[in-house]
This record gives sequence, structure tokens and C-alpha cells, in this order.
Amino acid sequence: MKKYIIFDMDGTLIESESSNFPLMFKHLQSYIPELEWDYFVYYCTQTAGTPLHEQLEVIFKNTLDEDTLNKITGELYDIIKNNSENNPFFEGVLDMVKKLNSDYTLFLSTGNSDEYAQKKLSEWWIAVCFDRIMWSSIIGKWPEHIKLFKDLTQDEDFEKYCVYIWDGNTDREIAQMSGIDFIKVWKAWIDKYEVDYTVEAEEIIQKL
Ligand SMILES: [Mg+2]
Repeated sequence: MKKYIIFDMDGTLIESESSNFPLMFKHLQSYIPELEWDYFVYYCTQTAGTPLHEQLEVIFKNTLDEDTLNKITGELYDIIKNNSENNPFFEGVLDMVKKLNSDYTLFLSTGNSDEYAQKKLSEWWIAVCFDRIMWSSIIGKWPEHIKLFKDLTQDEDFEKYCVYIWDGNTDREIAQMSGIDFIKVWKAWIDKYEVDYTVEAEEIIQKL
């Protein structure tokens, strides 16, 4: 019987890529005119869950100094935040989170920014369902987030009683490195590069 559930946010709770990617791409093209859409989408899809500043390091081929990298990361976080009304929650997700909150301790680990996560989750009154939300603007999404959740519970067997629900390859690595079970969801708009199964909110509840 699981006690703890860690959720990813973008692509798992929120459908964000379809409207964010074109805006992000357009902004990045002002720095890299030769950037190709197919490469951008492929790279971002394959590395979903990776903190944005780490993705940008690769997209810019490690040519940026720290200040410029932080500046562009901030610009993109602002673009994403200002587009949040176009990032709907997947159907059934709000009810699922509220329902699970009565039986499980919920955590959220996102590669997105604190401002975005707070804004998005608060406007639908589900921020309060999570015991702790970790974002990547301070500590990048990686096993460190899981470790912090574990420390909060003070449960030595945290990994055994935990399940991680996510949509991206980086999340898979994090779950495997941390030794916790996971459920992968795939509801993203892009199925060109990877086809996987879809898990609806009700199915997630049944899988636990
Ligand atoms: Mg995701």
C-alpha cells in the first residue's frame, strides 16, 4: 500500500507543451535564427522534466555565460507564466488530486518555475493539496527533490511507499535513481517521436 505520491506538473497535470513550445521557440529564434522547430520539439520532448536552464545549455551548445543563461531562462519562464491561461489541466486531474489528497501525502516536483507553479496551482485551489512543491528555479528537478520529500516525511522506507507519476524521460531517470515505483502518463499533443499509452485520472487511481 502506497502512502506518498509525487506528481510531475507539465505534461502530467497540465497540458502545456502545445501552446508553450511555439512561443518558446519563437523567442529562442531571436537568439538562434538557425534553430529548427523539429529539433527543438524533439529535444524538449525527449528531455521533458529536465530543468529549463539545463535544456537551454544544450540548445545553445554550452556557449552562454552564466548571466546570459539565467537571463534567457528568466525570459522563457516569464513567457510560460504569461501564457498560463492557455495551459489547461487535463480532464479529471483536479478532482483526482483532491480525491487522492484524502488518502495519500502528495508532493509535486516540477522543472518549471516557482512563480508559474504557485500561480497555476493556486488559481484552481489545489496548491494546498500538496505537502510540498519543489520547482527548478532554486534546486533543479533531480533526485534532490525526492530526497527533500523523504526528509519531510522522516520515513526511512519512503521509497517503498512512494509512487511517482510523470510523463517525461528525465522523470523516469529520477524515479529509477531514487528506487521508487512510477506510473507514466502520456497525454501530450506530440506523438510523432514517441508513442506510449495514455493513463486517465481514473486509471491512475485504480493503479495505486
Ligand atoms: Mg512533465
